[in-house]
Amino acid sequence: MLKTHTCGELRKENIGQTVTLAGWVHRRRDHGGLIFIDLRDHFGLTQIVLNPNTSPEAHKVATDLRAEFVIRVTGQVSPRPSGQENPGLATGDIEVYVDRAEILNDAKNPPFLINVEENVDETLRLKYRYLDLRHERLQRNLTIRHRAIKYMRDYLDARGFIEIETPILIKSTPEGARDYVVPSRVHPGQFYALPQSPQQLKQLLMVSGFDRYYQIARCFRDEDLRADRQPEFTQLDLEMAFPEQEDILNVIEGCFTGMIPTVTPHKKIPSPFPRLTYAEAMARFGSDKPDMRFGMELIDVSDIAGKTNFQVFSSAVQAGGQVKGVRVPGCANYTRKQIDELTEMAKGKGARGLATVALTELEIKSPIAKFLSETEMRGLIDRLQVQQGDLLLFVADKPKVVADALGALRLELGRRLNLAGKDMLAFAWVIDFPLFEWNAETNRWDATHHLFTSPKNEDIQYLDTDPGRVRANCYDLVCNGFELASGSIRIHRRDVQEKILALLKYSKEDAFARFGHMLTAFEYGAPPHGGIAPGIDRLVALLCDETSIREVIAFPKTAAATDLMTNAPSAIDEAQLKDLKLQITN
Ligand code: ASP
Repeated sequence: MLKTHTCGELRKENIGQTVTLAGWVHRRRDHGGLIFIDLRDHFGLTQIVLNPNTSPEAHKVATDLRAEFVIRVTGQVSPRPSGQENPGLATGDIEVYVDRAEILNDAKNPPFLINVEENVDETLRLKYRYLDLRHERLQRNLTIRHRAIKYMRDYLDARGFIEIETPILIKSTPEGARDYVVPSRVHPGQFYALPQSPQQLKQLLMVSGFDRYYQIARCFRDEDLRADRQPEFTQLDLEMAFPEQEDILNVIEGCFTGMIPTVTPHKKIPSPFPRLTYAEAMARFGSDKPDMRFGMELIDVSDIAGKTNFQVFSSAVQAGGQVKGVRVPGCANYTRKQIDELTEMAKGKGARGLATVALTELEIKSPIAKFLSETEMRGLIDRLQVQQGDLLLFVADKPKVVADALGALRLELGRRLNLAGKDMLAFAWVIDFPLFEWNAETNRWDATHHLFTSPKNEDIQYLDTDPGRVRANCYDLVCNGFELASGSIRIHRRDVQEKILALLKYSKEDAFARFGHMLTAFEYGAPPHGGIAPGIDRLVALLCDETSIREVIAFPKTAAATDLMTNAPSAIDEAQLKDLKLQITN
């Protein structure tokens, strides 16, 4: 190696040793005589000192150095003068007195500072991502990512899972998004798809007799732009033969509750992970990915509210809807303007309005008080266990609207009131999802998870008569309001798979054209199987306290799916198009 130690390595114990370090000039301070340089590499910073009297040549080299030059120095490890130690730095007890210095490469002035984290425009950061990645925070994030993945690999290996690579050029795998396609040169006019996930392949591996598979799998989904989506992302994809739902949940829960304290010991993870049915999650939190770092649950008051003279409440209940409320602690003095903002937010989620009750020190303040008897008002207050100073928010509507509106308000107020513990990772399992959801646009049922998910045995009887009632053997892992993983026990019989495909309105021919290999495989002794796939990008972002997954991906794309560093996507040569027999029309 060109160096004997890293820039994060030297301690008191090394004092007196002659060492060689190599790295980037992080900061340079010229004190007239002595020059001090913070030398940086992936591992940390070491202060080096250049003395014009003792090492004039090395000092001369240092005179010309600027930030981000790459240098190599040799010198002696010395204690820092008493009182000048830096306890905030791992190498803060020592400095290196340099005898020899050489420039390995110079550097242009970078487009943004590396030695301080400024608020730099993200497009500039992404254009010069190789420089952006020099920032300590990103070096740390990618290291945490590596450790998390390494833990998962070791954990699964110890439990009999083997990692098997599956192809990237495949036939379309429906996971609810659009495929990225790759034209075939050898078969002009035909296309491969990039896998939205290795779903079908991992199921086929179970048919092949592998017992436990996993893969750190790259998935590609051509979805419409959303702030924090990436066109390609990484999953811990796994599948087991002969499992029960419990086995899959245990594998992931065991892996995460072991991995997180190892990789990020400051994080708090309540365990065992609570379990909620989909219905319960929607009822209590208004969301199928509840943020469970705080309470502020949605409370049903339909029985009380439905009997009042307040039309909005009573008519909603009569129409089969509901009235629910949340208790917002300490916000009784919210101004008219603040309440209006909340009302707008509720309307944005489809609610017609927001009814409020504020329990100030002096009175019950509520625009709906005049419609309610004292007993009814007391009933609402008691049901929500209100304390003085609290604000109550009520929405009356169809259950879905109530859930969406109050669910959104709950999240917003939880954020404003700082109710979520900073280092808390509140995992929960959401189970018993409906197998189908109605798509009003296309006027047909869609698979809630994906079309290989099995229905619950006891609900198979409703497949023809009431598909909306059929629950799936499907589970999500959620954390802090994010869906971190989805999985299911799969269909392993051809007749059941065909039935589901028919319900999803695939013709027999279409079903066979797309999924013939699965249907055929299921006829050759496919074992019962199931799996799950936690998303690694979001998980690591949570571990690293990052809000954007771009901060934990080495070379991410923008929200518009472009790579600003290499300028992808880009046009290709005429000759390439000709080879592929493709023509661009626009
Ligand atoms: N393939 C599914 C997904 O990517 C996960 C699974 O069912 O295992 O969401």
